[in-house]
Amino acid sequence: MPSKTNDEKDMRYYLEKLWLGFRLRCPNCGQGKMFSGLFRMEPTCPHCHVRYERSSGESLGGMMIGLIIVELITVGGYLLSDVLFRPPLLFQMVFWVAFNLAFCLAFYRPARGMWVSVTYLTGGVYADEPAETS
Ligand SMILES: [Zn+2]
Repeated sequence: MPSKTNDEKDMRYYLEKLWLGFRLRCPNCGQGKMFSGLFRMEPTCPHCHVRYERSSGESLGGMMIGLIIVELITVGGYLLSDVLFRPPLLFQMVFWVAFNLAFCLAFYRPARGMWVSVTYLTGGVYADEPAETS
């Protein structure tokens, strides 16, 4: 059926755009790098000049992606290690708090990149209008 083929193609397209964001590449052109420093995101793509974020609050979406993933891993990891190894509660607490901090730092850039891809897929990432000169 043609519609199923289109659905598969659309899903592949969405996953490719999310993957570009995860790899910190512009979801529009796939060429420009989103970050110029460890935690410094470029406001626009250096290659195709689309604006990644229209307002500063948009970065919260990326943080939410990171938090959801780290909390799922933490709860699952805590329960699994508790069942398998029965470690002391203090060890569990220290380990999973440290894991949360390390994961949030390590996943900060990919989460923000993926959020830019989500914004791109919903129409929020585009080039600025040229300034009026009249
Ligand atoms: Zn670009």
